Amino acid sequence: MQDTEPFMIETKAIEPSGIAIDCPHCRKALLTVFPHGPKKAFDRYLYTDGDTVPIELAPRQRLLGWDIEVRLGTCPFCAGAYFGITARFIDAIPDDDVIHVYFFRNGDRGEENNFIGRRSEETWIISRFDTPVGPMLEHQFGPFAATFGEWLWPNGVAGCVIGGPSDLARHFLLTQWDELRTMPKALGLGAAKPDDIPL
Ligand SMILES: [Zn+2]
Repeated sequence: MQDTEPFMIETKAIEPSGIAIDCPHCRKALLTVFPHGPKKAFDRYLYTDGDTVPIELAPRQRLLGWDIEVRLGTCPFCAGAYFGITARFIDAIPDDDVIHVYFFRNGDRGEENNFIGRRSEETWIISRFDTPVGPMLEHQFGPFAATFGEWLWPNGVAGCVIGGPSDLARHFLLTQWDELRTMPKALGLGAAKPDDIPL
């Protein structure tokens, strides 16, 4: 990203009726996300497998707390394979407890506050969690369509396959890393409510 480029991420509140997250193949709703939590359209996990993403960051980009992963899932309606990209940022150095609970989801993360993020043509879900070291923003991109045999092996993420989800996620995140990193983490807590920010 050029230094002269404007900050392009906009945020918007989610209506109380929620926003549907659709299967990229059959467009049926997999999940409805509400302002304070998601509701699954079916009884299985949206994603069943995950992996970290190898990413080449400049030293200054490695500062403070962050975590990224690619997760795989299968649509219960059409059996299409998809993957999602998740990126988490905290403006502090997280301790092991914070990493296990808030990054690895091994524990109660408390109430989530959800928003819609938009950058150019792209929209995604941004969730704010309040951690002991300050607010964390979790960006969930996707689900994007994936094709078994071409990008993925049936047993999980094939991170070494050129053009696979991890490769795609790395490029996807690197192009907007600085914006995601510097985005104010207290989304929804400041004087300006998200509803006041025009899209
Ligand atoms: Zn589907």
